[in-house]
Amino acid sequence: MRFASHMDRALDQARAAADRGEVPVGAVLVGPGGVLAVAGNRTRELNDPTAHAEMLVIRAACAALGQERLTGCDLYVTLEPCAMCAAAIAAARIGRLYYGADDPKSGGVAHGARVFAHPQAHHAPEIYDGIAAEASAALLRAFFAERRGPPR
Ligand SMILES: [Zn+2]
Repeated sequence: MRFASHMDRALDQARAAADRGEVPVGAVLVGPGGVLAVAGNRTRELNDPTAHAEMLVIRAACAALGQERLTGCDLYVTLEPCAMCAAAIAAARIGRLYYGADDPKSGGVAHGARVFAHPQAHHAPEIYDGIAAEASAALLRAFFAERRGPPR
C-alpha cells in the first residue's frame, strides 16, 4: 500500500537517525514520478540546527528537480513538523503532508505556532496526521529513555 510503504521508509530513516545518535525523525518526499528524497535528522552530524529530516528532503528534492517549489509533492514524516519545517513546507508549496506522532512540545502544525492555520500562511498542504503514530512515538520514547539512562 502506497501510504504504509512511504511511512515505513520514513520510519527506517528515523531508526537510522537514532543509530547515529540523532533524534529519531525520518522523512520521505514523493513526487508524481516516485520518491525524490529520503532523510533522517542530522543536526548533530552537520552541526546544523536546521538539519531536520523535513528540511533535508526538501533541499534534496528541490536540488534534484532544479526548482524551488515542490507543488504536487507529498511529504511523509514520522513526527509533527516544527514551526521551521512547517514554514518550509508552505514555502515549497508541498501538496500533502502525512505525519506520525503528535509533538505537543515542539510541533508547529497542530500545536504551538500552528503555522498552516496562521493568517500569514501563504499555502497549506492537505494534512493527514496519526499515520503510524505509535511506531514513531515508540522510537522517540526509546531514544530519550536510553539517553536518560536506567531509572535510579
Ligand atoms: Zn523541524
